[in-house]
Amino acid sequence: MAGVTSTWTEPANTPVALLLLGRGTDPASERGVDCPGELPAPSDPDLVARAEAAKAALGDRVFVLGHHYQRDEVIRFADVTGDSFKLAQQAAARPEAEFIVFCGVHFMAESADILTKPSQRVILPDLAAGCSMADMAVLGQVETAWEHFEDLGIAGDIVPVTYMNSSADIKGFVGRNNGVVCTSSNAKRALTWSFEQGSKVFFLPDQHLGRNTAVLEMGFDLDDCVLYDPHKPQGGLTAEQLRNARMILWRGHCSVHGRFTLDSVREVRERVPGVNVLVHPECRHDVVRAADHVGSTEYIIKALEAAEPGSAWAVGTELNLVRRLALAHPDKQIMFLDRTVCYCSTMNRIDLPHLVWALEELVAGRVPNVITVDEKTAHEARIALDQMLALP
Ligand code: SF4
Repeated sequence: MAGVTSTWTEPANTPVALLLLGRGTDPASERGVDCPGELPAPSDPDLVARAEAAKAALGDRVFVLGHHYQRDEVIRFADVTGDSFKLAQQAAARPEAEFIVFCGVHFMAESADILTKPSQRVILPDLAAGCSMADMAVLGQVETAWEHFEDLGIAGDIVPVTYMNSSADIKGFVGRNNGVVCTSSNAKRALTWSFEQGSKVFFLPDQHLGRNTAVLEMGFDLDDCVLYDPHKPQGGLTAEQLRNARMILWRGHCSVHGRFTLDSVREVRERVPGVNVLVHPECRHDVVRAADHVGSTEYIIKALEAAEPGSAWAVGTELNLVRRLALAHPDKQIMFLDRTVCYCSTMNRIDLPHLVWALEELVAGRVPNVITVDEKTAHEARIALDQMLALP
C-alpha cells in the first residue's frame, strides 16, 4: 500500500466528549459510572495474592477473559486472551463456568451475554469500561437515518453491516434489517456477501474499517463512499449523494487508532530505515495507504510471530498489545508507531483493584456488575451474528 498517491482528504475525527473521572455522568452511555462497591487500594501490596486466592476459591465456576488491549496486571489472570469475537466464542464454549469475568469493554461483555447460556452471568469489573467508538452510534440516531433512507425509497437497496465494536441494540437493528455483523478479520467477506444481497451498504459505526475495506480490498472508489454524520440533518448528505453512494459510512471512529497520522508513518520511516509499518484497519485511510501491511489484531500477532529475526516493525495498534509483542519477540525490533502514548483509556479502566473486587464479591456470594441484554435484542443481534458465522 505504501507509495499510493491520492487527492482525497481525510475527514476530521468526530469530537468525543471527555468526562473527567469522578466528575459527572453521561446518561447516553456508561461513562462516568461509579464503582458500586469498596475497591481495594491500588497500592495494596497483596492485590496479586488476593486475586490468585479468589480465583482459586472459585475454580471452574469462573472463567476470566482478557482482551489483547488489557493491562499486563490483568492479563496475567486471564484464562484466555483474544479479540472480542474470539473471547465471546470462548465464553460460549465454557458452559460449566457460572461466571464469565470479562476484562474488556461493555460491547464485548454484551456479545458474550448474547452467545452464552442464560444461566451464565457475564461480569464487567468496571461498568465505566465502555468504548468511544460504540458510543458514537446510538440506536435512536441509526433509526432516524434508516427512516430517512426509507423516505428516499432507498432502504430496500441497503444492507446494514455493523462492526463487532457496536452495542447490542445496534447489532439487533442490523439483525432485524437482514444485515450482518463483521470483525476486522472478515470485513471483506461480510461486504462481499452484502453486495450480493443489495446494491448499497450502510456501515456502522467505524468509518475507517468500512472505507479501508471497500476501497483497498474491494476496489471501490473513494467517491463511492459517503459519510453520514448523525449530528447533521439528513446526515449532512443530499438525496442525490445518498442515491449514488455504494457505501454509506457512519461517522464513527476508534479514538485510539484514529490518533495515528501520516506524520507518524513518515517520522518512523526516516528514523528507522527499512522499517515495516503494520497497522490495524481502524486506522485512518491515509495511514493505512501509507503502511506496508494492514490487518486485524490476530493478523498483527501472527505477522510478528512470522517476521524474520532482526527485522524492524512499527505497529499501529493499542500500546499494551504492542509492548507485550515487543517483549515476546526480543529478536525483532518492534516499536509503537507513534511517539506519544496511546492506550485505550476505557479498556484501561479494568485494573487489578477492579478485578480483585469483582472476584472477591463472587467468592462472598454476591454477583457484581452483571451485563444483561434483553431477550428481544439478543435474539435479533444473534441473527446478525449467525449471519456472520454463515458467511461463505
Ligand atoms: S481500542 Fe478503540 S474500538 Fe477498541 S475499545 Fe478502545 S476505543 Fe473502542
